Amino acid sequence: MAFLAGPRLLDWASSPPHLQFNKFVLTGYRPASSGSGCLRSLFYLHNELGNIYTHGSVLYHLFMCHQGGSPVYARLLALDMCGVCLVNTLGALPIIHCTLACRPWLRPAALVGYTVLSGVAGWRALTAPSTSARLRAFGWQAGARLLVFGARGMGLGSGAPGSLPCYLRMDALALLGGLVNVARLPERWGPGRFDYWGNSHQIMHLLSVGSILQLHAGVVPDLLWAAHHACPLD
Ligand SMILES: [Zn+2]
Repeated sequence: MAFLAGPRLLDWASSPPHLQFNKFVLTGYRPASSGSGCLRSLFYLHNELGNIYTHGSVLYHLFMCHQGGSPVYARLLALDMCGVCLVNTLGALPIIHCTLACRPWLRPAALVGYTVLSGVAGWRALTAPSTSARLRAFGWQAGARLLVFGARGMGLGSGAPGSLPCYLRMDALALLGGLVNVARLPERWGPGRFDYWGNSHQIMHLLSVGSILQLHAGVVPDLLWAAHHACPLD
C-alpha cells in the first residue's frame, strides 16, 4: 500500500482523554480531524490503521479521532457494540434452530429467550464503563450458547455431525480474543513496541474473523441438514 504523508501524530499523553484507553500504545495517535480528514487516514500509517483494515468495525476505528470529540466517540462505540451484539445474536439463532429442529415447542421458546437475553446483553454492553465490563456483558449470551452446545453434545439436540466442533472453536476464538483485548497483551510486556502492528486489539480482530469463519463452516452444513432432516414421529 502506498502511504500518503499524514499529519503529525500525537503521543499517548497528548491525545484526547477519550482515546487514552490503552496506555501501552504510546505513539501514533491521529490528531482531531474533520470527517474527510478521518477518511484520509485510510491512506497513511497511524495506530488505528491495522484495526481499520482487519475488521467490520471500520466506522468506529476510522472516525474515533473525529473533531466532535467524546460525544462522537461515544456514539461510534455504541454503534460498534450494536454490531458485536448483532453478530452474537444473529449468529446463534440458526444454531438454536438446527439444534432444536425436532422440538417444536422448545425451539421457538429458545429462539425468543436467546433474543431477549441478547437485548439485555446489548444494553449492558452499551452502558458498560470499561472494556472488561463490556466483555462480561456478553458472558450470559456465551453461557446460553454453551448450554445449547452441551445439550447437543449429550445427544439432546440435533444437527449436522461436524458442526458442533466448529461452534466450539468459534466461541473459543471469540473468548480468547476478548481476553487478549482486556489483558492488553502483548503491548503490556513491551509498551510502545506494538503501537502500529500486533497489539491486542488487532489480535482480537483477527481472532474474531477466525471465529466468524468457524460459524460459517458450522452453520452452512447445519442448515442443509435441517432442511432435509425428517424428525421421528412419536
Ligand atoms: Zn475493534
